[in-house]
Parts: sequence; structure tokens; C-alpha cells
Amino acid sequence: VWGRQELRIVLLGLDNAGKTTLLKCLASEEVSTITPTQGFNIKSVHSHGFKLNIWDIGGQRAVRPYWRKYLGSTDLLIYVIDSADQKRVLSWQELAELTEEESLMGVPLLVFANKQDLVTAAPAAEIAEGLSLHTYRDREWQIQACSALSGEGVQVRSERPPVLQV
Ligand code: GDP
Repeated sequence: VWGRQELRIVLLGLDNAGKTTLLKCLASEEVSTITPTQGFNIKSVHSHGFKLNIWDIGGQRAVRPYWRKYLGSTDLLIYVIDSADQKRVLSWQELAELTEEESLMGVPLLVFANKQDLVTAAPAAEIAEGLSLHTYRDREWQIQACSALSGEGVQVRSERPPVLQV
């Protein structure tokens, strides 16, 4: 899969989770925003031969049937969580629903437990438990504690695709 010119990485998470900040850490090039007619934003960036698509899913249940069709042939699902958010349980539910999407079956999952620089942040282990990651049998998964703000835990080396280091 790494030999391909393009990898489709879908980056999801609730509003304010840190997706945009994380993307800036991962991407070396400019971010372009596409706003399809359905009324949700897709941010797209090309970096290290990857195409990353970011979707905001916060409060957008109504448009979900529309963005579903864009999820086909996704190579990697990145899910960003605000570890300090009191409402992070909501984020857990969103992920549980997402992973049941037929088009995302078997797609490897990378969870970023973001905002670890905040004292109120829950540790990654607690988030992994909240997400019941250990019950996922049909896909590879990994959780990574990070601070998209400081870049800690988001290690990017220019000669390699960023996701290989996490
Ligand atoms: P998005 O809505 O998921 O794209 O979230 P943003 O990337 O826009 O971030 C939302 C807010 O959280 C902004 O004010 C960011 O500066 C802040 N933020 C993002 N990542 C971190 C982090 O790791 N630590 C802290 N303290 N704040 C962060």
C-alpha cells in the first residue's frame, strides 16, 4: 500500500478536537478547503504522497448520508479526540457509530488522544478504555497521546509518511 502514489486518509473528530491543528502538524503543504453543496467542509491536503481528507462531523448528523459516499476506499481512519473535553463521551459514541459504517469496515484506525498538554486531559489509556478499542477485532487500531499544539506525539519526518512513526 505504501508504494502507491496516493493514500486516502480520512481524519475525523468532533468540532474543536484539534483536527485542523493536527493537520498543520502533519502537512507540509497548503491546505485547501472544498465546500460541497451538501453543506459540510472537507479540507484536503497533499503531503508525502498522501491525500488527507478532513471531515468535521460535529453536529452534522443530517448530512451524514451525503458524506458516507466519500468514505469508500479509505486506507486509514484517523480519529481525533479532545482528551480534556468533558463531553468526550459524545465523541466515543460518534466513533462507535463510524466504525459500523460499511464503507469503513476493516479500515485501520489511529486515534489521537489530543490536548495532552492540558492538566485536565484524560490519559490515552483511559480514552482507549472509553472507546472500547480492545473489543475491535476486525481492524488494526492504535492510540497515540499527543498535543497538536506543541507537536509532541505527532512526529513528522520529511522522508517518511507521518503515520508510520506514530
Ligand atoms: P477542529 O475543530 O477539530 O479542527 O479543532 P482546531 O484544530 O481548530 O482546534 C480547536 C482549538 O483547540 C483551537 O483553539 C486550538 O488551538 C486548540 N487545540 C488544538 N490542539 C490542541 C492541543 O494539543 N492542546 C491545546 N491546549 N489546545 C489545542
